Amino acid sequence: MWTRTCVGCDRPGPVICLSCTGEGALRPLGEPVDFVADGRVLDVYDSGLGRAVAVAKGKPDRRTASVLARTLRQRACQDPEVFGWLLTATAVSWIPSPWPRRLRRGFDLPALLAAELGSVSRVGRARPLLHVSPGVRQAATSRRGRQDNLRGRIRARDRGVEGVVVLVDDVVTTGATASACARELLGTRVETVRLITLCQAGDAAHRESGHGVQML
Ligand SMILES: [Zn+2]
Repeated sequence: MWTRTCVGCDRPGPVICLSCTGEGALRPLGEPVDFVADGRVLDVYDSGLGRAVAVAKGKPDRRTASVLARTLRQRACQDPEVFGWLLTATAVSWIPSPWPRRLRRGFDLPALLAAELGSVSRVGRARPLLHVSPGVRQAATSRRGRQDNLRGRIRARDRGVEGVVVLVDDVVTTGATASACARELLGTRVETVRLITLCQAGDAAHRESGHGVQML
């Protein structure tokens, strides 16, 4: 008999079961990210939620990606502070995957996440503010390597946005990419960057080896 199982834990249930969606509320980032004023994360990467993210991006599986996006929106709406961010943001945007990966997957998970959060924001939708050009595979590089790899690859697409931008990503690993993106936005008229992400890879050994972690 055909039984549907959770992509995060393989137990029978919906696409992603309740215990794999982080269970609880959004929480502050375990490690601060330079140039980001404040950040929230749903769970660590080494979790059912992280496995669901890996399935969504690796398979790739758009249905799982959509469930992740709706989950993030629900959690954001349940959190008065984060919902407040969305109601005061002048823009909701995301850290885009470079185009070869978007092309391969047929979707961009951070863009789907931002679309859901943008839909409940004051501005009503997410908009692309950043361009990230392809580079060396992030997962294969060290923290220093990531920073070198990022140099010159991130640029603002729209320099006219002021105020507070809520930036959305799927996985924050070293924070180097999110930091570089926030710095680029702060180089325009943007005054504050806040970050919302599904997962944070918090273990130094894990992120240096890059097992299964793909940021870009
Ligand atoms: Zn599960």
